[in-house]
Amino acid sequence: MIHPNNQIAIIGAGFSGLAAARILHQKGISFQLFEARERLGGRVYTKQIQDDLYLDLGGQWIGPSQTRMYELCQEYGVPYFETYNQGQSILDLNGRIKSYKGTIPKLDIISLLNLDMIVRKLERMASKIDLEKPWTHPKAQEFDGQTLLDFLKRNSKTEACLQVMKVGMQTIFACEPEELSLLHALFYIKSGTSLDVLISIKNGAQQHRIHGGMQTLAEAIAKPFFDRIQFDSPVLSIIQEKEKFTLSTSKGAQVFSHIIFAVPPPLLKKIGINPPLSDQKQKLLEGYEMGYIGKCQMVFAKPYWRHKNLSGQAVSDSEFYLQTIFDSSPADSKYGVLMGFVIGNKARKFFQMDEDSRKQAVKKQLIQYFGEEANQEINYVDHTMNQETWSEGCYAGIRGVNSWTKYQNSYSQSEGRLHFAGTEAATRWHGYIEGAVRAGEAAAEKILQELSND
Ligand SMILES: Cc1cc2nc3c(=O)[nH]c(=O)nc-3n(C[C@H](O)[C@H](O)[C@H](O)COP(=O)(O)OP(=O)(O)OC[C@H]3O[C@@H](n4cnc5c(N)ncnc54)[C@H](O)[C@@H]3O)c2cc1C
Repeated sequence: MIHPNNQIAIIGAGFSGLAAARILHQKGISFQLFEARERLGGRVYTKQIQDDLYLDLGGQWIGPSQTRMYELCQEYGVPYFETYNQGQSILDLNGRIKSYKGTIPKLDIISLLNLDMIVRKLERMASKIDLEKPWTHPKAQEFDGQTLLDFLKRNSKTEACLQVMKVGMQTIFACEPEELSLLHALFYIKSGTSLDVLISIKNGAQQHRIHGGMQTLAEAIAKPFFDRIQFDSPVLSIIQEKEKFTLSTSKGAQVFSHIIFAVPPPLLKKIGINPPLSDQKQKLLEGYEMGYIGKCQMVFAKPYWRHKNLSGQAVSDSEFYLQTIFDSSPADSKYGVLMGFVIGNKARKFFQMDEDSRKQAVKKQLIQYFGEEANQEINYVDHTMNQETWSEGCYAGIRGVNSWTKYQNSYSQSEGRLHFAGTEAATRWHGYIEGAVRAGEAAAEKILQELSND
């Protein structure tokens, strides 16, 4: 029997918290959603930069097998469109700029064969990971005791192959390949279906974008329960006494019977929880770092590169800052937008420069790849959530060496009536918006189960 007066607190109005709230709302369960920022979406953030132009500064793409995202788009009548993916792409490697078609860059034959071998090997290894229990793989200790970079170096026979693999991995994981364990990389690959799906536009994780930006979907989901969201309300502490939790924000304290945390790991660590979380979870949280990535978007009157048979895509290991670039123009191509990722150590350096220097650096690179027209930009926006208090990084939390084998899945494990969502708690599409939704829904389902057992 479900008691409609049970008070559930959800912390975080990103996609995970919203997905949990949506289920509780549909079941008529009373809840409060606390959000630290003054906006919805968390690591999804669509910014209107002109009357008729929105840019996604956070998550933007969806792709096949992200079933919940497509179902939500359909349910809320939010349309999506194909990412532009025609023409030649640019590879800037070892000081030489070449164009190529498809997802595999033009390299010498040895490097190409080597690249194919490494990708197949990673796919094969990832396919054998149990997403619910990555640490039970027979070679879990060995995989978890080394970084992804160790693996790449061991398997790359040419410098070109190593460089291309590094840029690909930086873009997938939003960090340096030495910052995550091989086991985490394999888990992540399987979680997102396969490496091929993760790197691809066509039939891959970058296939579609949302009209008006990804936040449109967050807003549509939140609309029916908007009055249950308390914005500008960072949760500071949660004190448990018997079956009740006293949750405090700077605006006061309220009592709840169940809690869902839907915040990134470094921010979970900052909430004062008493009695403390399990030792395992606390130790895992101590070393749980976020990825480091920024988006740089240059807006033009038209996607002029398309007329030169260029896709707007580029991969670079050069001294330029942007490591990968995509055509991120709006659906109607009213403007042309080139969006580049600056990742890991380059991002740390890039965001120390002032805005004008950043813009000039980006422009110089775009001119090299797409021609002098890149001088004619009408707008420039760059952004990193690593500098935002309520994200501290992105795309997601990164598990370093020995994290999975030491702490297993303690992050996502409920502790009494405390439940843990967020994309970092997901087994499928971990790190993605789809994962955030699935983890939020799973946490809400656990609470429904608990309420029906009461
Ligand atoms: C630049 C970038 C590009 C990305 N690209 C993609 C993409 O194309 N496709 C894709 O699927 N994914 C992408 N991602 C990842 C995706 O955005 C995230 O996985 C997803 O949005 C995470 O959702 P979440 O609800 O788990 O967490 P969040 O979105 O981080 O939500 C957590 C919320 O909790 C709030 N909060 C934190 N602490 C507290 C507190 N103490 N009290 C109250 N509230 C608190 C935060 O303000 C935030 O709103 C990208 C991310 C970034 C940043």
